[in-house]
Amino acid sequence: MSHTHENPVGLQEKYQRELLSAGLLIESSVPGVYGRSDVFEGVIQRFEAYLTRNSRHLQPEVIHFPPILSRDDYLKTSHIETFPHLMGSLHGFLGNERTHMELLRKREHGENWAADLEPIELMMAPAACYPLYPTARDTTLPEKGRLIDLVGFVFRHEPSNDPARMQSFRQREFVQLGTPEQALNHRDDWIDKGIELYKGVGLDEVQRVIANDPFFGRGGRAMVVSQIEQAMKYELVFPITSTEKPTAIASSNYHMDHFSHSYNIKTTNGEFAHTACIGFGLERTALAMFKKFRFDVKAWPSSVKTALEL
Ligand code: ZN
Repeated sequence: MSHTHENPVGLQEKYQRELLSAGLLIESSVPGVYGRSDVFEGVIQRFEAYLTRNSRHLQPEVIHFPPILSRDDYLKTSHIETFPHLMGSLHGFLGNERTHMELLRKREHGENWAADLEPIELMMAPAACYPLYPTARDTTLPEKGRLIDLVGFVFRHEPSNDPARMQSFRQREFVQLGTPEQALNHRDDWIDKGIELYKGVGLDEVQRVIANDPFFGRGGRAMVVSQIEQAMKYELVFPITSTEKPTAIASSNYHMDHFSHSYNIKTTNGEFAHTACIGFGLERTALAMFKKFRFDVKAWPSSVKTALEL
């Protein structure tokens, strides 16, 4: 039997079924939204602790944000122009008793009750670093810039049966705010460091590729060209389900002065700061490890268990 021509979608669904039947992921009624077992979560926790141990010498500030950000702050980014298809907007019921009755009547009759909801002041965070930049609003950075270590759930509306394409997943990010040089150094250092860190847990197949985002629409195609030409995005990819189309398990983005312009963040010389981040996809990293070393964590190579303190 030949398996060289199996299509990636088939392979993704096959891996999804394996994970579900092993109980590592627990299916919900919505594609791309899962419960996660203790074993799955344990690998993520150990990988996070591994990242912490290996970044301690950099003395980052550690900040934790909820997975939501203010609608006003969201609108200061270009996300609504570039990724409208992925956004998550929060809505609530702001009516009175009369409109509440109408809402219930619509639900009863299978009508579109949600159309009566109104946007509240919150959006789902599309990337773990988005809630950070507004908190640095109207500040001047210290001479050495700021390095922030953060982790958070992010939301992307893209229902899929590819277990590596979840609608809600975590990114562990290291973000640098500073001069262009500081931001670029951060980006370059972390790409190399990311490859080393993945090798350290046995994922030797990880490779660096220049990447582009799935920008929306016709305007998006021009953005892809400039993003690739300027090498603003790198991904670390691993063959989770396909060697021809490996999956990004980490990505590094250089935003130039996009965020600092939006929130007025300056360097000591009075110029707009530049920012760059590396984000480790925690669920995808776990999926890569379960793919390579299979589902019995106790049987993983001792070098991997040692590195992760499993
Ligand atoms: Zn980021």
